[in-house]
Order: sequence, then C-alpha cells, then structure tokens
Amino acid sequence: MSMTRHVICLGKLIMIERHKMPVQDPNLRAKNFDEVSLGYTEDMAVEEAGRCLNCINKPCVSGCPVNINIPDFISKVKEKKFNDAYKIILKTSSLPAICGRVCPQENQCEKNCTMGIKYEPVAIGALERFVADTCTELNLKTEENIKEEIRTEENKSDNSTSIKHGKRKVAVIGSGPSGLACASDLNKMGYDVNVYEAMHALGGVLVYGIPEFRLPKRIVNNEINNLKKSGVHFNTNVVIGKTLSLDDLFDIGYEAVFIGTGAGLPVFMGIKGENLKGVFSANEYLTRNNLMKAYDDDSDTPIMKAKNVAVIGGGNVAMDACRTALRLGAENVFCIYRRSEVELPARKEEIKHAKEEGVKFLFLTNPIEIISYDSNTNDSGINDGKNGCVKGLKCIKMKLGDPDEKGRKRPIAMDGTEFLIDVNLVIMALGTKPNPIIKSSNPNLKFNKNSGIIIDENGFTSCKGIYAGGDAVTGSATVISAMGAGKNAAKAIDLYLSFGVNK
Ligand SMILES: Cc1cc2nc3c(=O)[nH]c(=O)nc-3n(C[C@H](O)[C@H](O)[C@H](O)COP(=O)(O)OP(=O)(O)OC[C@H]3O[C@@H](n4cnc5c(N)ncnc54)[C@H](O)[C@@H]3O)c2cc1C
Ligand code: SF4
Repeated sequence: MSMTRHVICLGKLIMIERHKMPVQDPNLRAKNFDEVSLGYTEDMAVEEAGRCLNCINKPCVSGCPVNINIPDFISKVKEKKFNDAYKIILKTSSLPAICGRVCPQENQCEKNCTMGIKYEPVAIGALERFVADTCTELNLKTEENIKEEIRTEENKSDNSTSIKHGKRKVAVIGSGPSGLACASDLNKMGYDVNVYEAMHALGGVLVYGIPEFRLPKRIVNNEINNLKKSGVHFNTNVVIGKTLSLDDLFDIGYEAVFIGTGAGLPVFMGIKGENLKGVFSANEYLTRNNLMKAYDDDSDTPIMKAKNVAVIGGGNVAMDACRTALRLGAENVFCIYRRSEVELPARKEEIKHAKEEGVKFLFLTNPIEIISYDSNTNDSGINDGKNGCVKGLKCIKMKLGDPDEKGRKRPIAMDGTEFLIDVNLVIMALGTKPNPIIKSSNPNLKFNKNSGIIIDENGFTSCKGIYAGGDAVTGSATVISAMGAGKNAAKAIDLYLSFGVNK
C-alpha cells in the first residue's frame, strides 16, 4: 500500500488522494508522438478501485452517456477479477479502451462521483482504460472470447424485441464511433452489417483527428479487427452520395441504413488572409499528420513546419493541433482564444498537458487579419520565395460582456488594442460542420440550419428505413455521445426490421 492519507467514509477506510495517471516527461514527450499517458499499474488500479464507495444510488452511472455499471466493474477491479470487470463494461460500451482514453469524464461520470464532493472523484476513466488494456494486451483472455461469451449469454436470456430474423442486411455509413457502435450492436442482434467508409482507413476521427500521442492507432485498429472477426463487413473508399446513393443501397438489398458521417467540414473565420500559404484547417493539418503520417520523413504527404505557429480556438481539436505543431519542431506555439481560461472548452487534462509541454495561451484575444509577405524580395532585395506566405497574425484584445443565448459570456473587441504576432503558420480550429455530401444522396433527407440531419429521439430521419446519429446530427460533440447515438439507432433499427416500428 502506498504512503497516502486515509479517512473513514461510510464505514470504510478510504484513500483520500486519487492515483495520478503516470505520464511521459513533458520535455521528452513534446518531441515524440508516443502516447503521453502511460496507464495505471495493477497495484494502482486495485488501490484506486478501493476508493469507490459503491454508492447505492450510483450517481456516476447516470453521468455516463451509455450508463456503464461503474460501481460493479470497479468492485471487480478491487477483487482483481479484471475479465469480469471487462465483461460488465462491454455490456454497454463497445469501445472501452478508446473511451477510457478520450472521454471527458470530468464532465460526466466523475463529475457526479460522491467521492468528488469532499475529495477527488474516483478515477473512473483511468480504471476503464486499465481494464480494457489489461484484458486485450495481456491477453488474459482475448477480447473476442469475452465478447463471444457475452453474445452467448445474451442469446440465452434474450428478452429483447429482436426476433430470429436470419441475415437481414443493414448498411452503416461512416466508420467513426457512431457507425462502429451501431454496427457492433446490430451484428450482435444477428443482422448482416456492412460499413461503408469514404476514407481508405477505418475509425473516423479516432484515426484521422485524434493524434497518436492521445489515442494510439493500434487501440482503434484492435477494436475494428474484433468487429471484423465477429462478422461485420467493411468497405473503404466508398463515398455515399458519390460512389453510391442511399437509394442504391436499398436497391442492392439493404433494408435499413444508419448514417454516421460525422462533422468533417471545417469552419473558417472569414478574415483577410485566410487564403495565404501557411493557413490550414485543423482537420487538414491533423489528417496529414495522423492518417498520412506526414511527421515521418519517409511519408509522401507534405506538412508545413514552422518556427512560430498560431492555433485559433480552445477546444480539444485546438489542443491537438498545438501539441502536434510542437512535436513537428515549432519553437513557439500560441493558442489564441477569444474568451478567458475559464471558458476554454477543451478537456482539463489536455489543457494541462499542453501547458506542461510549452504551448503559450493568449486568452481574450481574437485574430482580425493574417498578414503576408507582400513582396517576393526580402530586406536585402534577394528573392526569398515567400510571396503569398504568412508573415504574422494581427489580433485584438477582447473583454467579456453579458451572456449570449447559450449562457456563455459574449466576447467584445476592445478598440485600439490591436497587436501583431510573428507567426508563419496559422491553424484554424474553430469547429466543424456536418459534411454536405450526404445531402445529395437523397433529396428527402431533412437538415437543420447547422446542416445537421434531423432525427427523432430514436435516430429515425425523415426517410423510411434511414437512421442517423453522432456528429452528423449534433455537429462536433464527443466520442461517447456518438457511440450512444449509434447504439440507440441500432435498437430502433431492430424494432423497425422486426415489427415495422418506425417511431
Ligand atoms: C482533433 C479532434 C479531437 C477530438 N478529441 C476528442 C476527445 O478528446 N474526446 C471526445 O470525446 N471527443 C473528441 N473529439 C470529437 C469526437 O472525435 C467526435 O465527436 C466523434 O468522432 C464523432 O463520431 P461520429 O461517428 O459521429 O463521426 P466521425 O468520427 O467523424 O466519423 C465519420 C466517418 O464517416 C465517414 N464519412 C463521411 N461522409 C461519408 C460518406 N458520404 N460516405 C462514406 N463515409 C463517410 C468519414 O470519413 C468518417 O470516417 C475530437 C474531434 C477531433 C476532430
Ligand atoms: S459515485 Fe463514485 S464512489 Fe460512488 S459508486 Fe460511483 S464511482 Fe464509486
């Protein structure tokens, strides 16, 4: 037992301090793409699990978008029955190794944790990750065996509405977390599931957005391989809306379709200079690096490396872009955010890691123009080939005014406070919108003003047999909410195909 303070709580001797997640040294990790968080050891996990009070009302569970039975799985960790813990998690979550790494637990399960009222909440995410990693990587029992056991148990006690329907065909569009979760559940119910993915690689934002240093690709590939082994079919390089239409899918025999096409369309500010060489959307910058491995000198994909980099925005995407720029050799990376630190939307852990690695935050600051080298000669009259490239970023200081319709304080520009930052690369990480390609695939699909597909509470769209969920509906959100939407739609598709229920 480590040297930590304990307290008697609800009649139990409880360790007060939460086990910190072991991480790579910030000075080392800022120069490599290896995973930053190293995961709990077995001793740490068992001790941390011992902090759980096993509350009768389970407030943590109601904070989890897919309602994992948290106290039960944690009890199993305490008893070192890791496979049993894994089985409990897998009953409601299809991607635990991923969620344990990237879910914003501080706003979900851990926010509701009773321990958090007086002390630090139980590290639920770190325990979920430990269980998933232990059961897959140490191969105590392969994940597929455990999933197979669950399927068998579920078939034995099948009270669900699912009837034994042979192999009816369902198409899933997009292989991000919403599509994977939907495909996984439908496959378990006995449907013949085919996933259509526009890219050459599977996993959606999990592979092309979230960097290796936060979510290693082998973790995502492992989950996808398990789905392949369990019978889900995957088709890459197929763009629904271009290669095939939604109608084509019904024509070739699918009886229902789930759209999980995400929100991959970047948003720009509309300021002067956004077309200059050296301005990227975070999507493009991260995709070049993550999916096309541009950081590797042997990669065919080029990426711009710069000494001074500005990243505009304050969400997870902005943090990922800042930290990627550092790893690509930038000396100064400025994260420019128009509100204050309190309003930063990124996960607390990502902000902490970014600061430790040396990212400089400019709060209450808004860019107003990207400045270019306006001549192709430098001061000495020598052609330096920089014409049309980014030379700097003109910004203005902001103050916070009254709350807007979403309750967030409105940033207001302060006249006369303009200043210039010397940067050669500007990355826009202001959010994304659903990609419009799917719109062209069926004129009857209805969209809201933010280009999100309109659905009812079961994921049913305006078209018969077509369901949708994840970022394609909500705009950019979270992995777990996308996964929850995929699972929800799978249930509704089962009801529809079993009983013709469309609502
Ligand atoms: C850089 C970055 C960091 C993030 N960090 C976090 C985090 O730390 N925690 C968190 O919870 N969330 C995070 N998110 C958000 C999270 O990744 C998304 O909310 C989630 O991936 C959405 O899942 P999805 O299945 O709806 O869509 P996506 O993951 O976007 O997957 C959609 C898939 O559909 C494919 N597709 C699109 N159109 C078509 C078409 N017409 N035909 C065929 N296929 C198509 C796309 O290629 C893609 O593979 C982050 C997002 C980004 C971009
Ligand atoms: S709220 Fe916290 S202490 Fe209570 S059961 Fe959940 S994880 Fe354990």
